[in-house]
Amino acid sequence: MVEFQLKERGIIDKRVLDAFRKVPRHLFVPENMQASAYDDFAMPIGSGQTISQPYMVAIMTEKLALKGEEKVLEVGTGSGYQAAILCELAGSVISIERIKTLSDQAEKLLKDMDYKNIKFVVGDGTEGHKPEAPYDGIIVTAACPTPPPPLIDQLAEGGRLVLPVGDRYLQNLTIIRKIRGKIEAETSIGCMFVPLIGRCG
Ligand code: SAH
Repeated sequence: MVEFQLKERGIIDKRVLDAFRKVPRHLFVPENMQASAYDDFAMPIGSGQTISQPYMVAIMTEKLALKGEEKVLEVGTGSGYQAAILCELAGSVISIERIKTLSDQAEKLLKDMDYKNIKFVVGDGTEGHKPEAPYDGIIVTAACPTPPPPLIDQLAEGGRLVLPVGDRYLQNLTIIRKIRGKIEAETSIGCMFVPLIGRCG
């Protein structure tokens, strides 16, 4: 997975590649699909949701440009795989999911894996999570028509917000930076995520 799907497609951040080598992806997919856990596609995880394709998790993570001390907010816990990768790369992680069963499963799994720098929240992540704001990095793993304003508000100075922006079936990975209070946006590759469902989704 790391050699052929990530390095060959241009993922170069050594810390990101190491995190992918370390986190056992097969633990995050349904038992009957574990044999394909490291293949090049997204997979169903129940409740109509998916674990993203490894390359998509990698490029989004790389775009956050984490050095190790950051506080990161993830919207869309899903299986918890992206959350575990973030735990390897950031100081602390808050992960919000709207479906409680998914959040509970992910929380149990990450606890068993001994990750201590993460907090799970059940709720509407389009509102962000004010009590712990601002965040050095925010990653949204569901598709939205426009970046939710509360997430831009909760971004720290110098912080990065990475999210898929577009319509129901096709989006562009978008990177928003807050530099001296101003917002700069950059568009990256096309992608296809499940919808972000909420007040600003
Ligand atoms: N990051 C996940 C992929 C999750 S798929 C992983 O690594 O497996 C997207 C997830 O976003 C789904 O679980 C969906 O329920 C959740 N979601 C959609 N809208 C949301 C919202 N407003 N707040 C929080 N989670 C949301």
